[in-house]
Amino acid sequence: MTEFDDDIEDDEEDEEQEEEKEKSTGYEVGCTLSNCPNKIFISYKDPVRVALRTVFGFEDNELKLQIEKLLKPCPTGFAFSNNVDLQAPSDLNPVTSQIKTPGSCFTQTHFTWNLDELKKYEGQLISYVLKKMEVKEDTFQDLVDRFESGEMGAEAYLQGIEDIHIRERVLFCIIKTWAMAAGTEGAFRGAQELDLVDHFGARILITIADALETGMGADSLSTLSKEASNWDGMVEREIRTYLARIGKGF
Ligand SMILES: [Zn+2]
Repeated sequence: MTEFDDDIEDDEEDEEQEEEKEKSTGYEVGCTLSNCPNKIFISYKDPVRVALRTVFGFEDNELKLQIEKLLKPCPTGFAFSNNVDLQAPSDLNPVTSQIKTPGSCFTQTHFTWNLDELKKYEGQLISYVLKKMEVKEDTFQDLVDRFESGEMGAEAYLQGIEDIHIRERVLFCIIKTWAMAAGTEGAFRGAQELDLVDHFGARILITIADALETGMGADSLSTLSKEASNWDGMVEREIRTYLARIGKGF
Protein backbone atom coordinates (compact mmCIF):
# COMPACT_ATOMS: atom_id res chain seq x y z
CA MET A 1 0.00 0.00 0.00
CA THR A 2 1.38 3.41 -0.88
CA GLU A 3 1.69 6.44 1.33
CA PHE A 4 -0.98 7.99 -0.85
CA ASP A 5 -3.59 5.37 0.10
CA ASP A 6 -2.58 5.57 3.76
CA ASP A 7 -3.51 9.23 3.75
CA ILE A 8 -7.01 8.42 2.68
CA GLU A 9 -7.39 5.60 5.14
CA ASP A 10 -6.29 7.89 7.95
CA ASP A 11 -8.64 10.51 6.64
CA GLU A 12 -11.52 8.10 6.80
CA GLU A 13 -10.62 7.03 10.33
CA ASP A 14 -10.32 10.65 11.47
CA GLU A 15 -13.60 11.39 9.83
CA GLU A 16 -15.32 8.56 11.64
CA GLN A 17 -14.17 9.92 14.96
CA GLU A 18 -15.11 13.45 14.06
CA GLU A 19 -18.45 12.26 12.80
CA GLU A 20 -19.17 10.52 16.07
CA LYS A 21 -18.39 13.71 17.91
CA GLU A 22 -20.25 16.11 15.68
CA LYS A 23 -22.70 13.77 13.98
CA SER A 24 -22.01 15.53 10.72
CA THR A 25 -20.23 15.17 7.43
CA GLY A 26 -18.36 18.42 7.72
CA TYR A 27 -18.25 21.61 9.72
CA GLU A 28 -19.45 25.16 9.52
CA VAL A 29 -17.51 28.39 9.44
CA GLY A 30 -19.32 31.59 10.41
CA CYS A 31 -19.24 35.21 9.30
CA THR A 32 -17.29 37.53 11.61
CA LEU A 33 -19.90 40.30 11.43
CA SER A 34 -21.85 39.99 14.65
CA ASN A 35 -25.40 38.81 14.10
CA CYS A 36 -24.74 37.94 10.45
CA PRO A 37 -26.43 34.55 10.03
CA ASN A 38 -24.26 33.42 7.11
CA LYS A 39 -22.21 30.28 7.40
CA ILE A 40 -20.21 28.17 5.01
CA PHE A 41 -20.42 24.41 5.21
CA ILE A 42 -17.12 22.64 4.56
CA SER A 43 -17.71 18.99 3.75
CA TYR A 44 -15.00 16.58 4.82
CA LYS A 45 -15.09 15.38 1.22
CA ASP A 46 -14.80 18.85 -0.29
CA PRO A 47 -12.27 18.63 -3.15
CA VAL A 48 -10.32 21.65 -1.87
CA ARG A 49 -10.05 20.11 1.60
CA VAL A 50 -8.99 16.75 0.17
CA ALA A 51 -6.43 18.47 -2.07
CA LEU A 52 -4.89 20.56 0.74
CA ARG A 53 -4.71 17.53 2.97
CA THR A 54 -3.19 15.24 0.37
CA VAL A 55 -0.82 17.56 -1.47
CA PHE A 56 0.38 19.71 1.44
CA GLY A 57 -0.21 17.31 4.33
CA PHE A 58 -2.17 19.84 6.40
CA GLU A 59 -4.01 18.27 9.33
CA ASP A 60 -6.58 19.25 11.94
CA ASN A 61 -6.35 22.91 13.00
CA GLU A 62 -3.73 23.76 10.39
CA LEU A 63 -6.02 22.35 7.71
CA LYS A 64 -8.97 24.39 9.04
CA LEU A 65 -6.82 27.51 9.09
CA GLN A 66 -5.61 27.01 5.51
CA ILE A 67 -9.19 26.45 4.36
CA GLU A 68 -10.34 29.60 6.18
CA LYS A 69 -7.71 31.61 4.26
CA LEU A 70 -9.16 30.40 0.97
CA LEU A 71 -12.76 31.35 1.73
CA LYS A 72 -14.33 34.21 -0.13
CA PRO A 73 -15.68 36.86 2.25
CA CYS A 74 -19.36 36.91 3.14
CA PRO A 75 -21.60 39.09 0.93
CA THR A 76 -21.58 41.50 3.90
CA GLY A 77 -17.86 42.03 3.21
CA PHE A 78 -16.74 40.36 6.44
CA ALA A 79 -14.50 37.30 6.50
CA PHE A 80 -15.61 33.82 7.45
CA SER A 81 -13.76 32.44 10.43
CA ASN A 82 -13.38 29.18 12.31
CA ASN A 83 -13.55 31.16 15.53
CA VAL A 84 -17.11 32.39 15.18
CA ASP A 85 -19.37 30.84 17.76
CA LEU A 86 -22.14 29.15 15.80
CA GLN A 87 -25.25 28.61 17.80
CA ALA A 88 -28.25 28.89 15.51
CA PRO A 89 -28.80 25.91 13.21
CA SER A 90 -27.60 26.49 9.68
CA ASP A 91 -30.03 27.62 7.01
CA LEU A 92 -27.44 26.93 4.36
CA ASN A 93 -27.73 24.45 1.59
CA PRO A 94 -24.40 22.67 1.98
CA VAL A 95 -24.21 21.74 -1.68
CA THR A 96 -24.47 25.16 -3.28
CA SER A 97 -23.74 27.22 -0.18
CA GLN A 98 -26.64 29.47 -1.04
CA ILE A 99 -26.59 32.25 1.42
CA LYS A 100 -29.58 34.26 2.48
CA THR A 101 -28.57 37.88 2.25
CA PRO A 102 -29.03 39.37 5.70
CA GLY A 103 -32.03 41.64 6.02
CA SER A 104 -33.43 40.52 2.71
CA CYS A 105 -35.75 37.78 1.57
CA PHE A 106 -33.71 37.25 -1.61
CA THR A 107 -31.12 34.57 -1.89
CA GLN A 108 -27.96 34.76 -3.89
CA THR A 109 -25.46 32.13 -4.78
CA HIS A 110 -22.26 32.57 -2.89
CA PHE A 111 -19.16 30.94 -4.34
CA THR A 112 -17.16 29.48 -1.53
CA TRP A 113 -13.61 29.88 -2.74
CA ASN A 114 -11.43 32.91 -3.24
CA LEU A 115 -9.94 31.95 -6.59
CA ASP A 116 -7.12 34.52 -6.37
CA GLU A 117 -5.94 32.87 -3.17
CA LEU A 118 -6.42 29.39 -4.61
CA LYS A 119 -4.30 30.40 -7.61
CA LYS A 120 -1.22 30.43 -5.36
CA TYR A 121 -1.51 26.65 -5.11
CA GLU A 122 -2.00 26.06 -8.84
CA GLY A 123 1.59 25.01 -9.61
CA GLN A 124 1.96 22.64 -6.68
CA LEU A 125 -1.41 21.01 -7.30
CA ILE A 126 -0.68 20.18 -10.93
CA SER A 127 2.88 19.06 -10.11
CA TYR A 128 1.43 16.54 -7.70
CA VAL A 129 -0.97 15.22 -10.36
CA LEU A 130 1.81 14.97 -12.96
CA LYS A 131 4.03 13.11 -10.51
CA LYS A 132 1.24 10.63 -9.79
CA MET A 133 0.70 10.13 -13.53
CA GLU A 134 4.28 8.87 -13.83
CA VAL A 135 3.86 6.23 -11.15
CA LYS A 136 2.87 2.86 -12.51
CA GLU A 137 -0.12 1.79 -10.44
CA ASP A 138 -2.29 -1.29 -10.79
CA THR A 139 -5.09 -0.98 -13.33
CA PHE A 140 -8.36 -2.90 -13.28
CA GLN A 141 -6.92 -5.08 -16.05
CA ASP A 142 -3.82 -5.90 -13.95
CA LEU A 143 -6.09 -7.04 -11.14
CA VAL A 144 -8.26 -9.18 -13.42
CA ASP A 145 -5.16 -10.81 -14.90
CA ARG A 146 -3.71 -11.59 -11.50
CA PHE A 147 -7.02 -12.86 -10.16
CA GLU A 148 -7.63 -15.12 -13.16
CA SER A 149 -4.11 -16.54 -13.05
CA GLY A 150 -4.66 -17.44 -9.38
CA GLU A 151 -1.90 -15.10 -8.27
CA MET A 152 -4.40 -13.11 -6.23
CA GLY A 153 -7.34 -14.21 -4.07
CA ALA A 154 -10.86 -12.75 -4.10
CA GLU A 155 -10.26 -10.59 -1.04
CA ALA A 156 -7.07 -9.06 -2.37
CA TYR A 157 -8.78 -8.50 -5.71
CA LEU A 158 -11.66 -6.58 -4.09
CA GLN A 159 -9.25 -4.60 -1.94
CA GLY A 160 -7.28 -3.75 -5.08
CA ILE A 161 -10.41 -2.42 -6.75
CA GLU A 162 -11.27 -0.35 -3.70
CA ASP A 163 -7.72 1.06 -3.65
CA ILE A 164 -8.02 2.13 -7.29
CA HIS A 165 -11.33 3.86 -6.56
CA ILE A 166 -9.91 5.74 -3.57
CA ARG A 167 -6.79 6.74 -5.51
CA GLU A 168 -8.86 8.08 -8.39
CA ARG A 169 -11.30 9.90 -6.14
CA VAL A 170 -8.47 11.75 -4.44
CA LEU A 171 -6.66 12.53 -7.67
CA PHE A 172 -9.86 13.91 -9.21
CA CYS A 173 -10.36 16.14 -6.12
CA ILE A 174 -6.88 17.54 -6.70
CA ILE A 175 -7.52 18.04 -10.42
CA LYS A 176 -10.80 19.77 -9.60
CA THR A 177 -9.09 22.13 -7.18
CA TRP A 178 -6.31 22.80 -9.67
CA ALA A 179 -8.88 23.56 -12.41
CA MET A 180 -10.58 26.15 -10.18
CA ALA A 181 -7.19 27.73 -9.54
CA ALA A 182 -6.16 27.62 -13.20
CA GLY A 183 -9.41 29.10 -14.56
CA THR A 184 -11.22 28.15 -17.77
CA GLU A 185 -8.47 28.79 -20.29
CA GLY A 186 -5.60 27.55 -18.16
CA ALA A 187 -7.38 24.36 -17.15
CA PHE A 188 -8.49 23.28 -20.63
CA ARG A 189 -5.14 24.22 -22.16
CA GLY A 190 -3.42 22.30 -19.38
CA ALA A 191 -5.62 19.26 -19.98
CA GLN A 192 -4.36 19.18 -23.55
CA GLU A 193 -0.72 20.19 -23.14
CA LEU A 194 -0.08 18.13 -20.01
CA ASP A 195 -1.68 15.02 -21.51
CA LEU A 196 -4.35 14.82 -18.83
CA VAL A 197 -6.90 13.76 -21.44
CA ASP A 198 -4.57 11.10 -22.85
CA HIS A 199 -4.01 9.76 -19.38
CA PHE A 200 -7.45 10.00 -17.77
CA GLY A 201 -9.73 10.11 -20.81
CA ALA A 202 -12.40 12.63 -21.79
CA ARG A 203 -13.99 12.45 -18.32
CA ILE A 204 -11.25 14.79 -17.11
CA LEU A 205 -12.89 17.53 -19.19
CA ILE A 206 -16.17 16.88 -17.34
CA THR A 207 -14.31 17.25 -14.04
CA ILE A 208 -12.79 20.53 -15.21
CA ALA A 209 -16.19 21.85 -16.32
CA ASP A 210 -17.65 20.87 -12.91
CA ALA A 211 -14.80 22.67 -11.19
CA LEU A 212 -15.45 25.85 -13.16
CA GLU A 213 -19.11 25.67 -12.17
CA THR A 214 -18.21 25.22 -8.49
CA GLY A 215 -15.58 27.93 -8.64
CA MET A 216 -17.36 30.65 -10.56
CA GLY A 217 -20.80 29.43 -11.56
CA ALA A 218 -20.04 28.80 -15.24
CA ASP A 219 -22.68 26.32 -16.40
CA SER A 220 -20.78 23.07 -16.84
CA LEU A 221 -22.85 21.80 -19.76
CA SER A 222 -22.39 24.96 -21.83
CA THR A 223 -18.69 24.96 -20.98
CA LEU A 224 -18.37 21.35 -22.14
CA SER A 225 -20.37 21.89 -25.27
CA LYS A 226 -18.07 24.80 -26.20
CA GLU A 227 -14.96 22.79 -25.31
CA ALA A 228 -16.07 19.78 -27.39
CA SER A 229 -15.36 21.67 -30.60
CA ASN A 230 -11.69 22.05 -29.59
CA TRP A 231 -11.29 18.30 -29.77
CA ASP A 232 -11.77 15.71 -32.45
CA GLY A 233 -12.09 11.95 -32.74
CA MET A 234 -12.96 9.90 -29.68
CA VAL A 235 -12.67 12.76 -27.21
CA GLU A 236 -15.19 14.92 -29.03
CA ARG A 237 -17.49 11.92 -29.47
CA GLU A 238 -17.31 11.06 -25.79
CA ILE A 239 -18.15 14.61 -24.73
CA ARG A 240 -21.03 14.85 -27.19
CA THR A 241 -22.38 11.48 -26.04
CA TYR A 242 -22.14 12.60 -22.44
CA LEU A 243 -23.97 15.83 -23.23
CA ALA A 244 -26.66 13.98 -25.17
CA ARG A 245 -27.10 11.39 -22.45
CA ILE A 246 -27.73 13.91 -19.71
CA GLY A 247 -30.43 15.40 -21.86
CA LYS A 248 -29.30 18.93 -22.51
CA GLY A 249 -26.76 18.26 -25.22
CA PHE A 250 -27.13 17.73 -28.90
ZN1 LIG B 1 -21.76 38.10 6.87
